[in-house]
Amino acid sequence: MNAYVLVCPATRQSVLIDPGADADTLGEMLKDTTPIAILLTHTHFDHVGALAEMRVRLKVPLMLHRGPHADDIVLDADRWLEEGDPVRVGDHALRVYFAPGHTADQICIATDGEPRIIVGDTIFDGGPGETWSVDGFQTTLRTLREVILRWSDDTVCHPGHGPSFRLGDRRREIETFVSKDHGAFFGDATWGM
Ligand SMILES: [Zn+2]
Ligand SMILES: [Zn+2]
Repeated sequence: MNAYVLVCPATRQSVLIDPGADADTLGEMLKDTTPIAILLTHTHFDHVGALAEMRVRLKVPLMLHRGPHADDIVLDADRWLEEGDPVRVGDHALRVYFAPGHTADQICIATDGEPRIIVGDTIFDGGPGETWSVDGFQTTLRTLREVILRWSDDTVCHPGHGPSFRLGDRRREIETFVSKDHGAFFGDATWGM
């Protein structure tokens, strides 16, 4: 899976997003920066595998959505993030989008200035994140319509797995996907289905 480090170039303050594994590599990614927080896009096991270790190493606040959390994970955050919340990193402010569906605690984290968004498992280049119930899939459709498709074409989406992509390059496929009747579907979806 993809972990991300966002760094303010002026102050060198940083945040670590989704410490899934390999604390030593994450430490390398944070080198020469001042970490101020760990953020989670959601609470699936593969995104939090190195969380306990990184909390010990960094001793910075943990921030995530209140949930309910996935995978029976119990976490006490230092700050619960909600739709529209800003997270200051040096001279910059990240912005939180609530994007449920894949999980009930899924958020996306946008940078200011250039349009880049860490989307977690909300969307991938090839389709939306997996769902485990009809309700979860319907929630994903709503998130695609009301959150994702409102972003500009220039937005670069950085997902929790696989390559980053420009939203404009997928917009038509996503629009077609949400316009179809998928019945009682849930599971692993592709834009083309
Ligand atoms: Zn996930
Ligand atoms: Zn994942």
